[in-house]
Order: sequence, then structure tokens, then C-alpha cells
Amino acid sequence: MEASDSSSDEEISAELKTTEEYKELKRLKKILKEKESFIPPLNRGAVVHHGFSCDNCLVYPIVGIRHSCLSCPEGSEVDLCDECVDLPFVNDEHDTLHKFKAVTVADKQDGDNANPHAYLGLS
Ligand SMILES: [Zn+2]
Ligand SMILES: [Zn+2]
Repeated sequence: MEASDSSSDEEISAELKTTEEYKELKRLKKILKEKESFIPPLNRGAVVHHGFSCDNCLVYPIVGIRHSCLSCPEGSEVDLCDECVDLPFVNDEHDTLHKFKAVTVADKQDGDNANPHAYLGLS
């Protein structure tokens, strides 16, 4: 009679904890946690990135997650919407090796887009 299947997945032997695989797993779990906390679970009221258009599909303004290129020279940064960020977009300055930063909060712009209720006529 063997009912030895009571060991849970959480129980990892000390020997196993020293393996590279386990360290890798821990690292991945940590990254996952950081990602979860980085993107706020706010589906209502998507962020509107006034003043930023998508360089690929030309949508304006970008709504939701804005992907801002960190590698392009200042002044000619590429911004992509969440739909286009996985596409191999290139232009004179930008290529597919560039790194993007996901921007989930709207930049504070000085300008006439400052009033978020302007479209309601409530100025
Ligand atoms: Zn786009
Ligand atoms: Zn770039």
C-alpha cells in the first residue's frame, strides 16, 4: 500500500534549490511579478496619449499602452500603439533592434489638450 503522492509541488528539496533551473525559475517568477505590478489592471478609462501618434498605423492619439522607443535619437523617437509594437516597423532612424518602453500613463502635456473633458464642452 503506497499512498506516497502527497508531496505538493511547493515542496522542493534543498538539493534542487541549488540547481540553475531552480534559480532560473525563481528569476522568471520575479519578473512575472514585476510585470504584473507594472501594468495596472485598469480596463476602464484607457489612457489617452495626447500629442502622440502611432508611427506605423498613424492612429492619433495613441490610446492604451504607448510604446516609446528608447533607442532612437532624441527628437525623432518612434511611438507605436499596442497593436503595432510587435510588427517589424522601421524608418530612417529606427530599426527592429531598438528597445521599447511601455508607457501606461499619459504624459503631462502643456497645451490645449490639458482638459480631459474638453470634448464634453465642459471647459
Ligand atoms: Zn499603430
Ligand atoms: Zn527606435
